[in-house]
Amino acid sequence: MHELGIAQQVIEIAAERSGGARISRIVLEVGKLAAVLPDALRFCFEAVSEGTPAAGAELQIVEVPGRARCRSCGGSVELERPYGRCACGCSDLDWLSGEELRIKELTCAPLADATANTITTTTMTTS
Ligand SMILES: [Zn+2]
Repeated sequence: MHELGIAQQVIEIAAERSGGARISRIVLEVGKLAAVLPDALRFCFEAVSEGTPAAGAELQIVEVPGRARCRSCGGSVELERPYGRCACGCSDLDWLSGEELRIKELTCAPLADATANTITTTTMTTS
């Protein structure tokens, strides 16, 4: 299952970034062309976060549209799905982005001597 591996990867990166501090919130940017089902990902996240610093953390999934370039006219196209059509009518598109997954924000519970900190922008690959 695609989402299970992603959830494990998210937790692994988040735990590493938090330095062992308990994580209260993760904002994950998911490209709409990544073929990730947010509900399935949330379910997997809850299951695999048990016993990790991310247990009980809120997972916020932000879906971002994909971008493509039209091979016919060179125009830029925004994609909500893994297929689309340029305004010129051509459907021969070059995908530029939309398959990425990125931890946009990571909020950790404060350690004894620190205030809550938010770590931003961790890019990850899904393959
Ligand atoms: Zn075009």
